[in-house]
Amino acid sequence: MNSCYPFENTPLPYAYDALEPYIDTETMHFHHDKHLQTYVDNLNRVLQNAAGLQKQSLAWLVKNWRTLPQAVQIPIRNNAGGVYNHRFYFEGMCPSGDSGNDCLLVQKIQAQFGSMQSFQKCFKEKALSVFGSGYAWLVLERGQLRIISTANQDTPLCCGQHPLLCLDVWEHAYYLKHQNLRGDYIDDWFSVVNWKKADARLQSVM
Ligand code: MN
Repeated sequence: MNSCYPFENTPLPYAYDALEPYIDTETMHFHHDKHLQTYVDNLNRVLQNAAGLQKQSLAWLVKNWRTLPQAVQIPIRNNAGGVYNHRFYFEGMCPSGDSGNDCLLVQKIQAQFGSMQSFQKCFKEKALSVFGSGYAWLVLERGQLRIISTANQDTPLCCGQHPLLCLDVWEHAYYLKHQNLRGDYIDDWFSVVNWKKADARLQSVM
């Protein structure tokens, strides 16, 4: 039912308060029920008038927006990207302590970055460096882990990169709780990363 048009705003995979005290309940309500809902509604509105695209998956739309008729390129880029990125972000978190940390991905991070601490330092620097709105990502590219960022609702799917984790650094993701302190939000996010999910994503592309 959510593999193509009409898309629905799938529920969070945990309760709204499940990520407290790191990500607050009110932010989760606004972020999922208002911000993500708007991307879902806008994407459906674009596809309503594009019958030829109604059978395409979200990932296909995100990957192929450049090939679409010019009138829908930017609306699809922004809104399919907005739905894809937010689902990826929400699914990449879980209540603190629920996540496995002895998985292949964690071993790979330790091998490539030296330690989890130095990985987190690199990831935080990348997330802090996003100017304006966007995301920081951990991706797999040609067998190697890479930390990258994207602007607005762009995704790494178009570039031969396999996303494993993403961190939404739009201000709406943290402003209610952390105000202007993006660094504190990034630190809190590390406490709720769903390593099991990220590891499953890694295993599925290796
Ligand atoms: Mn967001």
